[in-house]
Amino acid sequence: MSTTFKYEFDTEAFRGKVSFPTGVFIDGQFSAGSEGKTIDIVDPTNGQVLTTVAEGTAADVDRAVVAAKCAYDSVWGLKTPGSQRGVFLARLADLMEAHIDELSALEALDAGKPFLWAKNFDVTKAIATIRYYAGWADKMHGKVIETTEDKLAYTRHEPFGVVGQIIPWNVPLLMMSWKLGPALATGNAVVLKPSEVTPLTALRMCSLMNEAGFPPGTANIVVGYGNTVGQAMSEHMGIDKIAFTGSTLVGRKIMEAAAKSNLKNVTLELGGKSPNIIFDDADLAVAVKWTSHGIFWNQGQACCAGTRIFVQEGIYFQFLKAFTEKAKSLKLGPTFELETYQGPLVSDIQFKRVMSYIECGKQEGATVHLGGERHGEAGYWVQPTIFTDTTPDMRIVREEIFGPVGVVIKFKDEDDVLRQANDTLYGLAAAVFTPDVSRALRVAHQLQAGTVWVNCIMMVHSNVPFGGYKQSGIGREEGEYALDNYTNVKAVHVNLGHTI
Ligand code: NAD
Repeated sequence: MSTTFKYEFDTEAFRGKVSFPTGVFIDGQFSAGSEGKTIDIVDPTNGQVLTTVAEGTAADVDRAVVAAKCAYDSVWGLKTPGSQRGVFLARLADLMEAHIDELSALEALDAGKPFLWAKNFDVTKAIATIRYYAGWADKMHGKVIETTEDKLAYTRHEPFGVVGQIIPWNVPLLMMSWKLGPALATGNAVVLKPSEVTPLTALRMCSLMNEAGFPPGTANIVVGYGNTVGQAMSEHMGIDKIAFTGSTLVGRKIMEAAAKSNLKNVTLELGGKSPNIIFDDADLAVAVKWTSHGIFWNQGQACCAGTRIFVQEGIYFQFLKAFTEKAKSLKLGPTFELETYQGPLVSDIQFKRVMSYIECGKQEGATVHLGGERHGEAGYWVQPTIFTDTTPDMRIVREEIFGPVGVVIKFKDEDDVLRQANDTLYGLAAAVFTPDVSRALRVAHQLQAGTVWVNCIMMVHSNVPFGGYKQSGIGREEGEYALDNYTNVKAVHVNLGHTI
């Protein structure tokens, strides 16, 4: 079928028109969605429609699963050696690098990110992830296991087959790379649903995947809404495994749908309410710099944002003063201005959600120490906001806000802060600031979180695992650990003797 939708953009910072198809991408080709409907993609800086993309449906998911299964059985999976799968992924990483400005501009336009952050973090790390998994594709192996002298037992790590992947809007291309990299390296065929809010980089990647030489059907992209396309994927009998990144609420629905259909394997990367702990002896300048980044980077729309800032009583006021100055100095501004640190929130829905949490904090009796208001007339900017005088039962202390809103909480000692920090249903990440290595590690080991940063925050690397304890998820992405998400272990027993 021919290309149906096209998106063209031309910005001051990114000179020249760029045009690419925005249909559903199945079996290496773009087409309209089965019902011919479209989704408006909105510019978060002004609320205007940027473009429209094809809206996928459950019927499109069916088509994508057939294409993926066909590719898996005929040309992909165990039919393509790991070394060749690695070549495709490495070519894809090179093509992404060759288009880094274009991908970064698209990500910035679509999600409202400052262009430089989109380029230096999101897209750079996405390229690194695809390249990292290109390297793994021919390095996976099972084990030979000793049993008795007349038996040989060994394991194989085999792909699941057709894998469904559902991703959120906060770091769209990076989340896509965390999903596609290990799934394709291990030989699975993929049906991926980007967020309906930010699908543009995923759609641009389709042509790059074709150019990289992936056989048609190995990766299919269906943009659509969660309750249609996402739901259809979660309950699809032809999908052998589903990997999801998004809210805990939706993660629960996906697990239910998987349980009620074919009991497909599920991995979940969910929400967080991460503690950031600053001890009396911390280097104040270092702690302030990272704390600000931990809560305000990406407009606070980060699953591992350090939203609960615990400060030891001896430096509480000193820290609060310096942190407030730092927050005031952050430049809120247009996407393509190079000094911009904070852009708008991704959508009107997210803007209203964050503003309602700020209102809730005020109603519950917390003090708005800084910010708490909209920034500007148009678009979805929210001022960097700091709450103090909170109590542990307040919703702003317990629930994920996903905006530039932090709570600063005083603590007495290690026992006190560990009790408060672990008093959450989440367990995605945590940070500790102190030069005392023994204390840092003692605390790190007692924190219930999948990642603990010491004297830094929000650092991710393609070779280091990432994922949650408690209700922040199941499984690990990134690093060697993510390969386990996408492989089934088969044990083979060979009888070398004649005994029963
Ligand atoms: P969301 O859960 O609303 O949506 C995520 C994805 O799920 C989207 O593609 C959406 O269309 C889809 N979806 C919605 N309803 C669905 C359903 N019933 N069935 C199947 N799919 C459905 O999350 P969001 O608002 O896009 O993103 C923010 C959330 O993502 C936050 O909670 C954040 O913490 C989390 N997140 C987690 C990580 C991590 O690695 N742990 C990373 C990024 C974001």
